[in-house]
Amino acid sequence: MKKHFIASLIFLSANSLNAQNRIVDKYGQLSVKGNYIKSQYGDTVQLRGMSLFWSQWMGQYYNEDAIKWLQDDWKCTIIRAAMGVEMGGYLTNPETEKKKIIQVVDAAIALGMYVIIDYHSHEAHINPDEARKFFGEMALKYGKSPNVLYELFNEPLKDVSWEKDIKPYEELVIKEIRKYDPDNIIICGTRQWSQLVNEAASNPIKDPNVVYTLHYYAATHKQWLRDEAKAAMDKGVALFVSEFGTCDASGNGSLDLEESKLWFRFLDKYKISWCNWSVADKEEAASILTPGASGEGGWTNSQLTESGKFIKKEMVEKNSVVLKKTSAK
Ligand code: MG
Repeated sequence: MKKHFIASLIFLSANSLNAQNRIVDKYGQLSVKGNYIKSQYGDTVQLRGMSLFWSQWMGQYYNEDAIKWLQDDWKCTIIRAAMGVEMGGYLTNPETEKKKIIQVVDAAIALGMYVIIDYHSHEAHINPDEARKFFGEMALKYGKSPNVLYELFNEPLKDVSWEKDIKPYEELVIKEIRKYDPDNIIICGTRQWSQLVNEAASNPIKDPNVVYTLHYYAATHKQWLRDEAKAAMDKGVALFVSEFGTCDASGNGSLDLEESKLWFRFLDKYKISWCNWSVADKEEAASILTPGASGEGGWTNSQLTESGKFIKKEMVEKNSVVLKKTSAK
């Protein structure tokens, strides 16, 4: 009897701990108002989480155990599922890659986290019908779920046109998504590896729940890119850092933690949500894990890289405040 009583106490406290972490229960359906993402209840929302690595190369982390660990131990409020498109990704193995994304989205819904369905491509506009078909399917399946955000085009290259290539592609895919899902947030890639957000803000997409993708790698992209972001926001749009690194733009090289702190200050000031690149055990500076770290989470401190430790500290510190402050609705 006593044993059962203690067991149910443990169960209850584990449950309330999990309830504390269920950000979607607190924020509900998200929408865009001017420069900000707002919750269903009027809070200004800043999500902080992790991006998974290209699905075709790091599929071992696309499962509920890993996502649950990131929620419990890292206080992630959002996870980005980065579906590789070219280079052996979705275009070659559509069912295999789609299945990985579905596993992550279903896990996020079960856990009460936000999740980005990211079309991880540099040249998505070349095969617009493939993207249209994929996102139509996702919107039909998940359009009623407040957890889901769609990211249409990870990083368009430099030598394409916003007006003639990127924007028409994104408008085509948005039209398809909106057939099934009238309201969930859509994250739109911008030219030059999702840096030229001011260009997009000058000729914006007409949909009330669109935000623009801003990517940075702190050892490469500094004040000029924050100025670009500020100029875009001054035109009235909202931004989303769906990917950033503490290292240089190659995903490698040495970390610049001082510049990373300047970026955090900027993102906090303007309540810009972020996902760090990336959940991977690949031997490179951007990875949060050391080689061989388990696909099921449970990572010890010694299995985290320098970038991993830095990001985890920032996320736990700031998201814990958010999770405590935001009362359950
Ligand atoms: Mg919806």
